Amino acid sequence: MSASRPIPVFDGHNDALLRLHRHGGADAIAGFLNGQEKGQLDLAKARQGGFAGGLFAIFVPSPEKKQDTGAKATDKATDKPAEPNFASMPAPPALDAAEAQRAVTAMVSLLYRIERQAEGRLRVCRSVAEIEQCVADYAVAAVLHIEGAEAIDPDFQMLDLLHAAGLRSLGPVWSRPNIFGEGVPFRCPSSPDTGPGLTEAGKALVGACNRLKILIDLSHLNERGFWDTAELSDAPLIASHSNAHAICPHARNLTDAQLAAIGRSGGLVGVNFAISFLRPDGGRDRNTPLDLIVQHVEHLLEHAGEDNVGFGSDFDGAPMPAELGNAAGLPKLIAALRDRGFSHDLIEKLCFRNWLRVLRETWGA
Ligand code: ZN
Repeated sequence: MSASRPIPVFDGHNDALLRLHRHGGADAIAGFLNGQEKGQLDLAKARQGGFAGGLFAIFVPSPEKKQDTGAKATDKATDKPAEPNFASMPAPPALDAAEAQRAVTAMVSLLYRIERQAEGRLRVCRSVAEIEQCVADYAVAAVLHIEGAEAIDPDFQMLDLLHAAGLRSLGPVWSRPNIFGEGVPFRCPSSPDTGPGLTEAGKALVGACNRLKILIDLSHLNERGFWDTAELSDAPLIASHSNAHAICPHARNLTDAQLAAIGRSGGLVGVNFAISFLRPDGGRDRNTPLDLIVQHVEHLLEHAGEDNVGFGSDFDGAPMPAELGNAAGLPKLIAALRDRGFSHDLIEKLCFRNWLRVLRETWGA
């Protein structure tokens, strides 16, 4: 088996916990552990594709609108409606803190239940040494990440609690406003400069994360929030799942100036496989060539640097190019990079070395 083991991939973003939380119950966990047809990430697909670990996002969905016209929620779903006009959605409203805390508690619990039932095949990691041990053991390394800090109070008591529960990465905002700042709306074409920067509470959150050595994820922040964080944070700048604005002018993607700042800080940008963030038209056609991911990677490398790019798939959070499919398809992407002439050394950096380096610098362990 080891002879045919695919190259290991450490990935910056997935929404498997959200998918399982939505489906609920023991069946969902069993499906994840044993593999299932549905979904883009489970242990069987991980093993097949060489998915060695990543940031497992806790994401609190926005409440669904009551009197809707039947626009159905699907992928990451409620908030990322699978409608053709997805490209220009207004930002969803702010969330209630208590409701966010209930959902976060449920999803943290879910990850630990998965870990218990996985009997070593998935382990929650708090350090790079633990991630490396997982890679050596063929176990999936799960890093606890929160996408949107609605559950966190301005005194950071919940941050302390979540850190003690294993939280090592946090995005201050998802694509909606909260007490810390404003996320970018899902709009294409659009500049990422869509609103005000971090609030005073948001600036304090950057300091609190620096003190606790929690990764601050810039994906979903608007451009002013990005620059505010760049000025305040003493950690490398990381956008876990964002693409090149020069290729796909979506508000979620990063300008060349932002990419250069990530590179200068010794940070990392994770290329996102979601169709809407890849395509120049921001559309959702699943017949999007895998090669477009390679083009984004090349642009990110050119502007951020070869030590500063990794993967940030968005598995279970958004539709992917049909050619890639799901986590089992990662070797196809690696083959595409090889075909384009990427060296083995550079491919290893993209697949896991860059992520592990930046995590070690951020966490100090
Ligand atoms: Zn996201």
